[in-house]
Amino acid sequence: MTRLDDVAAAGAAERQRLMPGTQLTNYPPIERWGDWVENDPQEWAHGRRTPRHYSLIPTTCFNCEACCGLVAFVDKASGDVTKFEGNPHHPASRGRNCAKGPATINQVHDPDRILYPLKRAGRRGEGRWERIDWAQALEEIGGRIGRAFAEGRHDEVMYHVGRPGDDSYMERVLHAWGIDGHNSHTNICSSGARLGYAAWMGFDRPSGDHANAKVIFLISSHLEAGHYFNPHAQRIIEGKMRGAKVICVDPRLSNTASMSDYWLPVWPGTEAFLCLAIARLLIEDGTWDREFVRRWVNWEVFLRETRPDLECTFEHVGPALSALYAEYTPQEAARVCGIDERRVREIAEHIGRAVPGRLASHNWRASAAGNEGGWQTARCLFLLNVLTGSVGTEGGTSPNGWNKFIPVPPKQVHPHGRWNELTWPQEYPLSHHELSMLLPHFLKEGRGRLDTYFTRVYNPIWTNPDGFSWLEVLTDEQLVGCHVALTPIWSETAWFADYVLPMGVASERHDVASYETHAGRWIGFRQPVMKVFAEQQGRTVDRTYDGNPGEVWEEHEFWIDLSWRIDPDGALGIRQHFESIEQPGTPLPIDEYYAHLFEHSVPGLPVAAAGEGLTPLQYMRKYGAFSLPGDQLEVHEHIVGAEEIAAAAAVRDGDGVYRVPATAGSHGSVDEIGGHMPFIGDGSLGVEIDGDVRFGFPTPSRKLELFSPMLRDWGWPEYALPTWIPSHVHWEQLDLDAGERILLPTFRLPTLIHTRSAQAKWLAEISHSHPLWIHPSDADALGIDVNGLVRISTQTGHFVIRAWRTEGIRPGVVAASHHMGRWRLDEAAGTSGWTAGVAAVSGPAGGYGTGSRSDDGRWHIATTHGVQPWSSSDPDTARVWWSDAGVHQNLTFPVQPDPVSGMHCWLQRVTVGPAKPEDRYGDIAVDTGRSMEVYREWLAKTRPGPGPDGLRRPLHLARPVKPLASAYTTT
Ligand code: SF4
Repeated sequence: MTRLDDVAAAGAAERQRLMPGTQLTNYPPIERWGDWVENDPQEWAHGRRTPRHYSLIPTTCFNCEACCGLVAFVDKASGDVTKFEGNPHHPASRGRNCAKGPATINQVHDPDRILYPLKRAGRRGEGRWERIDWAQALEEIGGRIGRAFAEGRHDEVMYHVGRPGDDSYMERVLHAWGIDGHNSHTNICSSGARLGYAAWMGFDRPSGDHANAKVIFLISSHLEAGHYFNPHAQRIIEGKMRGAKVICVDPRLSNTASMSDYWLPVWPGTEAFLCLAIARLLIEDGTWDREFVRRWVNWEVFLRETRPDLECTFEHVGPALSALYAEYTPQEAARVCGIDERRVREIAEHIGRAVPGRLASHNWRASAAGNEGGWQTARCLFLLNVLTGSVGTEGGTSPNGWNKFIPVPPKQVHPHGRWNELTWPQEYPLSHHELSMLLPHFLKEGRGRLDTYFTRVYNPIWTNPDGFSWLEVLTDEQLVGCHVALTPIWSETAWFADYVLPMGVASERHDVASYETHAGRWIGFRQPVMKVFAEQQGRTVDRTYDGNPGEVWEEHEFWIDLSWRIDPDGALGIRQHFESIEQPGTPLPIDEYYAHLFEHSVPGLPVAAAGEGLTPLQYMRKYGAFSLPGDQLEVHEHIVGAEEIAAAAAVRDGDGVYRVPATAGSHGSVDEIGGHMPFIGDGSLGVEIDGDVRFGFPTPSRKLELFSPMLRDWGWPEYALPTWIPSHVHWEQLDLDAGERILLPTFRLPTLIHTRSAQAKWLAEISHSHPLWIHPSDADALGIDVNGLVRISTQTGHFVIRAWRTEGIRPGVVAASHHMGRWRLDEAAGTSGWTAGVAAVSGPAGGYGTGSRSDDGRWHIATTHGVQPWSSSDPDTARVWWSDAGVHQNLTFPVQPDPVSGMHCWLQRVTVGPAKPEDRYGDIAVDTGRSMEVYREWLAKTRPGPGPDGLRRPLHLARPVKPLASAYTTT
């Protein structure tokens, strides 16, 4: 009998002896989190039962955007965090995590992590650093920002974030600084889907109630890589176990596809065509929710704009839609999409049976992030939700804002009134959001310069397309005066910084975040567990870096202290926003900030806390999350009372919308509206439906906009309706005989996440290769051997990768996961050795690492060696047995911003062939001159603003750090 069998077979008393502190429940009961006892696993492995006492402190995961709950086990004897498990009190993750959650412990104890502030000692990229203290970093960085502000150079300070981890803190900081200096990673991630959804409903994301759906329609590999991966995955499987049909559209046989009832490997970029063919069948079959469409869709506008020949009455809507989508027959869908016609009909029948209200759908990255016009994929998919009445329903799909809650931070700051064209250029008035990937191209073109540039958990040299253009800009001190990398880990980009400032991982920082994981609202509280533990022990930790490993800090305190350095005497009006409420004239303590936030801004939390005799902050420190009370279904149907209308002085317009004077600048994004704000950016309050004023949606019409006046008025009338736009990689344009194929470079593995997972040894051991998926028929046609080397040529360069022949991918498409290809320039420092090999970078003006000046005017990466074992304080570094570091394919992709949404169109039209004799695995070659040409080709497709009334952007559209309405005008 094994020891576990011993325990299972024993009675309660004996179990207590064998495993003190546990009754073999799934999770330690919270009453015992203060002193949890379990045997030391290392000792037990040697047959010894040695009880250890732990303090269990909740926090939230920082390894993807889902913000799942974690519980840190802090050994009370040593004070060390020894492991992370799931937090059963977290409403979204419910105690469950993916592999990346528990692997947080690797990041805490990673021997190569950055523990102290560093300042560049040589030229940028040379890899010489000196250790400095926080006071020096704050003084020097704060001083130069203060000078920039005093000289009116506000647009030269930029904060560029990869993974925010928090919902509102930086909005407050940047408003307080009075700058339009926020930049994000969004347009290499989700701009396409956001615009598609925003055009329909104002909110820019969907929130599927998968667990209660009859049909779950996913245009993505949602079970392993969805936006809210683990919380969504567990609910998709719950829905499936309750009988839901799961449909997965993906050119790859992903984990999701393998768990689905239908896998539809359509040609990339034809997903919208499929959706419209299904929509046509629903209308023809009469399996659509006429009443929902009558009440909540702007069908009058649709008829007036597209069918002036018809009387504007609802009975004409069905025939008009049928006529509109007449060409989207099942036969034509089968041809264009490359799937069986019978499948199209079967799926339409399943979706028809979901009427009313039980279709959960999702598209986030995938097609919307891959194709020119991909934003219409989200729009055409959501058309199916609209037609089936599955909007805001149980088992349907809600706007994200209804299932997300952003508390108003204390010490509200008046919005700034600036508009920064480096991030919000006139060419892209509808972009979601900043044109972040074009920053190097704009800087090279002379559109501006940066005095101080923060990258924060952001690694554009590795993550973005055209990374060598980033390298060129980051090494040019005329364009970027000072680069400050706020990061928990070394990265390719941090190597080219002036200051590298170590920031905390999940258990070393404060954040409040909330996401649309299911039908309900919650907030999660990330907290620095060592600080909390110290306070449990009666010690005081003044600054988080006093409790964390080394001098690892958290951003929140950093921004407070930095703001004091920027404005030491308060003359700039900045310091006041970072002063204590209770003791003005002193810095705002982080506990005070959160005490106020939880006390005053989270409905239900003070009552729940009082029920346990706790303050709201104590409650959040104890549980790590809070589920807000209240039903979030069908929020659009909520009645807007006469008193509310009168208080807002709203008046009814001819379209039935009650409007108040414009309030665009009062708060940040549309996300916030679902939490606590009644108004949208243009100041409307509700819409009259069948005689009642109802809340509706945050669109100008307060209805779902089948016909989008916004798209018509802002230069894209041909896309005012849900429409299929042939992709830039549309298969009918390919020359397959010449070796052209579609490269899909974006899919995720469930075990890895962008830059940060490189710091987790368990994850690296599980996943450490990314071969090129290629169908055997393609491999044979192209002369690719089994496991053979392949040269992939893009518009700007090429890379060399290894092939994996598999029938799990659609012929005509090749794919490689985006995680790999990590490199470092130095044997002893840089990107984590668990995943990175050593590379030499050679370029037109010289090299980095052991690289040199290239003789062909192009950039090159040559692999010196792959992953190797090394010596460190962690004996596991000497046990590394894998060697593949992968290939940094993104370097070879030019920027391809969709002219409407601004989304980088990740799919590449490439030429695939066997490697040439001189090629070696991992080779990269790129021409950044050609990159600039491609950038200009895509820029030429845009239709620049301003739009109506001289506006830079529609007032109602979301954007981060939303400025005052006055900043929107160009006049
Ligand atoms: S899905 Fe995984 S990586 Fe993402 S927050 Fe949850 S546990 Fe962490």
